[in-house]
Amino acid sequence: MTSLQSEIEKRGRRIFELVDKYPDSLFSKAGFYQRLMTLSMRDEQLKLQLFRFVAVLPSLHTSGEIIAHLREYFADGHDSRKLSEFLEAGVRLAGLAPWISGPMLRWNVSEMARQFIAGRNPNDVMRTLRKRRSQKIGFTVDLLGEAVVGETEADEYAARYLDLLEGLARETRDWVDPLGTNSDLFPVVNVSVKISALYSQISPDNPAGTIANLAPKLRALLRRARELGVFINVDMESYAHKNVTLELFKTIFTEEEFKSWPHAGIVIQAYLRDSEADLRDLLEWGGRRGTRFGVRLVKGAYWDYETTKSRQNGWDCPVYLQKPESDANFETLTRLLLENESVVTSAFGSHNVRSIAHAQTFAEELGVDRSRFEFQLLYGMAGPIKRALVEMGYRVREYCPVGELLPGMSYLVRRLLENTSNEGFLRAKFSENIPAEDLLRDPCEVLRGSRNGVRPPSSAATNMTTTTPQTHSGVPYKNASLTNFALPENQEKMRAALREQRKQFGRKVPLTINGEKIWTDKTFSSVNPSQPDQIVGYAAEAGIPEAERAVAAARAAFEKWRRTSFEERCQLLERAAEVLERRRFELSALEVFEVGKPWAEADGDIREAIDFCTFYARQMRLIGQPRLTQNVPGEESYRHYWPRGVALVIAPWNFPMAILCGMVSAALVTGNTVIMKPSEQSVIIGAMLMEIYEEAGVPPGVLNFLNGKGSVIGAHMVDHKDVDLIAFTGSREVGLSIWESAGKTREGQRELKRVICEMGGKNAMIVDSDADLDEAIVDSIYSAFGFQGQKCSALSRLIVLEENYDRVVERLLAAAASVRVGNPEEPGIVVGPVIDEAAYRRILDYVEAGKSEATLAYQAKDIPPHGYFIPPTIFTGVKPNMRIAREEIFGPVLSVLKVRDLDEAIEVANGTDYALTGGFFSRSPANIERIKAQLEAGNVYINRPCTGAIVGRHPFGGFKMSGSGTKAGGEDYLLNFLIPRVVTENVASHGLTPEKTPEYRDEFLWPKQ
Ligand SMILES: Cc1cc2nc3c(=O)[nH]c(=O)nc-3n(C[C@H](O)[C@H](O)[C@H](O)COP(=O)(O)OP(=O)(O)OC[C@H]3O[C@@H](n4cnc5c(N)ncnc54)[C@H](O)[C@@H]3O)c2cc1C
Repeated sequence: MTSLQSEIEKRGRRIFELVDKYPDSLFSKAGFYQRLMTLSMRDEQLKLQLFRFVAVLPSLHTSGEIIAHLREYFADGHDSRKLSEFLEAGVRLAGLAPWISGPMLRWNVSEMARQFIAGRNPNDVMRTLRKRRSQKIGFTVDLLGEAVVGETEADEYAARYLDLLEGLARETRDWVDPLGTNSDLFPVVNVSVKISALYSQISPDNPAGTIANLAPKLRALLRRARELGVFINVDMESYAHKNVTLELFKTIFTEEEFKSWPHAGIVIQAYLRDSEADLRDLLEWGGRRGTRFGVRLVKGAYWDYETTKSRQNGWDCPVYLQKPESDANFETLTRLLLENESVVTSAFGSHNVRSIAHAQTFAEELGVDRSRFEFQLLYGMAGPIKRALVEMGYRVREYCPVGELLPGMSYLVRRLLENTSNEGFLRAKFSENIPAEDLLRDPCEVLRGSRNGVRPPSSAATNMTTTTPQTHSGVPYKNASLTNFALPENQEKMRAALREQRKQFGRKVPLTINGEKIWTDKTFSSVNPSQPDQIVGYAAEAGIPEAERAVAAARAAFEKWRRTSFEERCQLLERAAEVLERRRFELSALEVFEVGKPWAEADGDIREAIDFCTFYARQMRLIGQPRLTQNVPGEESYRHYWPRGVALVIAPWNFPMAILCGMVSAALVTGNTVIMKPSEQSVIIGAMLMEIYEEAGVPPGVLNFLNGKGSVIGAHMVDHKDVDLIAFTGSREVGLSIWESAGKTREGQRELKRVICEMGGKNAMIVDSDADLDEAIVDSIYSAFGFQGQKCSALSRLIVLEENYDRVVERLLAAAASVRVGNPEEPGIVVGPVIDEAAYRRILDYVEAGKSEATLAYQAKDIPPHGYFIPPTIFTGVKPNMRIAREEIFGPVLSVLKVRDLDEAIEVANGTDYALTGGFFSRSPANIERIKAQLEAGNVYINRPCTGAIVGRHPFGGFKMSGSGTKAGGEDYLLNFLIPRVVTENVASHGLTPEKTPEYRDEFLWPKQ
């Protein structure tokens, strides 16, 4: 053992000796909190339910509601004996006297919260701070609050922070530093600030814009803090906010005004893989700045969130996956901080005795006096460790959150999770009594052990296995990743692509028929809806003669293409996916200009196109081989599929690459030949898809690209006797006319035409009385206004239960007022222009209609003067029979409807012609089950936005007047493009019956290739 390790162990043991003198009451066996902890640690599933129940409790208004939720959460699936152990009187009394048990539970939960929340308000917290003062423990105060969804809330928050500074400074005027040495480094009053509380529109893809908005708010706070002699610490939140937080900190503290002020600090999270690079960068910056600054080193509080989020988006996981990796990195960063003590004042934020002992030992080795750094621990956690550290003469500061129970709930749940985590130090020490020797092991050694085959004590790796359904034998389907615009390199790539696309303005694209490029006399111009005088490109326009040629070319190419093996066709799609991936930024940038998509929306569209190609290729491989229907001796009967023939694909502009590519790829991979007609408004993107398929090697005639007026060439081809299948996505009006025309059989027609028809929606989201409003508001705003409300899945009717109505509307309007509207070429824009002048006028007509029918509750004012910008608009007092509640608007207009109860909410939600998407925000398991069963929508989303379907994960499509019931990106989608066929052979003649018939056989292809 190295001398450093033995010194760490010695110190660790000393801390444990002191700790064991004062057992931690939090981990004793008595009381409500302790029972909750004990049960949670025994059963993971029960833990989830318990914590969910705790989280919803403060928003329940009556005793009856509390009891109803209690029953719903714990009615079945769990050991009721275990549960009543926890609830004791609660559950048993519930049956007899709900008015007693409801308040009792609430009281228990608020008492539990008080163990972690130091006070309800700044006055209340003073009692705690005084007590700690007598124990020689300092403080940093943090203001808890609901998620800030709008700028009014952010301003209120900033004002509360200012009050807090004033109050704390006043109340502690005569307090002195508990250690008395180096007190200039550690002002008595220390306040922790979260940037997400100061600004509601933080956009990781736009650090400069975010900082421009945040800096003035932070400066105001800092000025007052400096006057009052207060230390300000900027907390670190999720990874998406990390770069902005670091940049903001460096920007402000490089400014002349704050350059020489040493009393500001920031947090570094050791669980992040890039934390060492960030810390080195900060230290270098600090050196250049020439004034001390503070760093609080923690491991990080959002581990579960970061791992889930990165898995959902297909991103590299930013956090370490094994707990000892975080521990080891914490030690590396500890050393780095202490080695740079001349620049940085360190605070080690940990309850882990090993991490603490390591910091002590290393400081000693470097000769850094113990009064020049501090240990910080959370209020309500690890009390004995704090006492031990004080006794050893170290500087200790407690992180004291202040606030009411409801806004403090997410903080409370984080603490409960931390205390019950399998990986956590506190549980290991105080609940599981793991021996000191194990707790003090060198994390690097634990890791080396794991690399030699012994697993570290981590369940993380097993949690990381993917659950995506398998679409190809043995190979899990993996969606393409979204671009993470929080990373500066991706921001730069996007900016470069936008510059490049600008240079290409005015490009000309031809038709492609039978592999030939065809120019016609007429051209269409496609304009930038943000600046309609900018022409993104010109496209040759097809008339009837070109449509005829395209149909003939597709028909002629069909015979060969249908006999091409499905494997070859799958590979074509996979090559197209590769080209899409390679040209990703270029195509996203083109979408920004041609259809006004914000960055992330454009990227999502290209990602979806890639997914369609890879998903359909895998699906085709699953159904491509003829498959035995039944195993019967003497007979071989194989079902397989033939393509239908010539497919006409008519696509809209709102997902200009994804929907076009999805329908085209499904048609091609199933062996149909295709005429693709993109929307007139997104024709340049359509031409790019043609280029991509050509690069991927599509044979001439198999895919033909026609641009032209839907009413002319579209209608002509729908009626054409040689067109066998129409895949359409677009408006109800056009969809229904296609459906009808395709039903007529023309002379010479071989097949009954198949129509795949996806139309619009009038999508509703219901907000239950117990909904988590932080989520409901943010997700509703995004669902209604993201991409200007021009998604067929967009939210258009928000149905709110009357109990919650006033609070929901108040927060909704405030949140809407903070949404960024502008030219989407700029990052961070949520609402850009609508697609063209016709849409602009139509939507404004609806706004006028809304004004006469309902109450105009909100309309954005600050919108660009040119371009097709419609201000986000919210109507309240909307009734189900009003036009704005019935007709599809396809723009940023939201109707809010008030209902009595869930019965009425469901009736209103289902009371439209459409059934595309629908959503529900609730924390009542019973109500959620009911919605799952009763909401009429092809895609039902619970407690999340109602837009953003992902291929394979959320097969997408509706019914009623929203569509014919097909599901793009679903396992059965390709069957719409195919004709099933069964070939049966008697193989029993003369009693020569084969013993075994294979389940699959080769394709029926002739001549064989
Ligand atoms: C004063 C103070 C201020 C804080 N401020 C912040 C802040 O601004 N931002 C913030 O994010 N957190 C902050 N925290 C919270 C802090 O991150 C957690 O309390 C801390 O991570 C718990 O670590 P520990 O050393 O006490 O316990 P330990 O039990 O040693 O470590 C637990 C931590 O290990 C990490 N971990 C758990 N499982 C794994 C795994 N499988 N693989 C890799 N790593 C894993 C997680 O970070 C987890 O929190 C603060 C904590 C304190 C005490």
